[in-house]
Amino acid sequence: MSTLAERIDDLLPQTQCTRCGYPGCRPYAEAVAAGAADINQCPPGGAATVAALADLVGVPPKPLNPAYGTEAENPTVAVIDEQRCIGCFKCVLACPVDAIIGAAKRMHTVIAAECSGCELCLPPCPVDCIAMVPRPASLPATGTQRELWRRRHTMRQARRSREEQARKDARRQRAPSLQEQARGIDIGAAVARARARRTGGAT
Ligand code: SF4
Ligand code: SF4
Ligand code: SF4
Repeated sequence: MSTLAERIDDLLPQTQCTRCGYPGCRPYAEAVAAGAADINQCPPGGAATVAALADLVGVPPKPLNPAYGTEAENPTVAVIDEQRCIGCFKCVLACPVDAIIGAAKRMHTVIAAECSGCELCLPPCPVDCIAMVPRPASLPATGTQRELWRRRHTMRQARRSREEQARKDARRQRAPSLQEQARGIDIGAAVARARARRTGGAT
């Protein structure tokens, strides 16, 4: 049996845009389930999502809270002007669903079919070469992409947490152990004492 947070998450658009004030759809779902967030904070979901959430949690529907943004009329996807792209990789780090491909110092490209339209890649681009354009009619409807975006976001989170753990492990291996540090201090003190003896000073 699914939890309330899971059922709320199932109703959310899964763009992972963070406009609700949470770092993704699942954290927002958990906040709504816990009564810490209101049902009207998701601009990509708009009035339809507010109504579905109201129905699920048993409260009257209300208008979308404009403090979190406004509902877009039509879905969009990001497009990179590849001639201007300097390959800085910042958009890749910002994309919550891994929809951008490209290596450092190489031109980058958005895989339109995987782009959730979240716009999180726009602010970090130092040369402003990413634009939002209408989602091509040839692409699947956004409603049918929710599971794909959720899966890609979950995989990305897991990868980032593995990378963070690997960085911590590497730092730990590089850092001298307490015993080694203590040995270093003892050696330093012994050298100081020997020098003092040689020069006739007190130890
Ligand atoms: S689509 Fe964006 S605003 Fe809506 S719940 Fe997900 S992260 Fe929050
Ligand atoms: S390419 Fe940009 S707009 Fe599309 S999902 Fe990634 S960050 Fe969001
Ligand atoms: S942030 Fe802009 S310049 Fe940097 S790789 Fe992405 S598109 Fe290219």
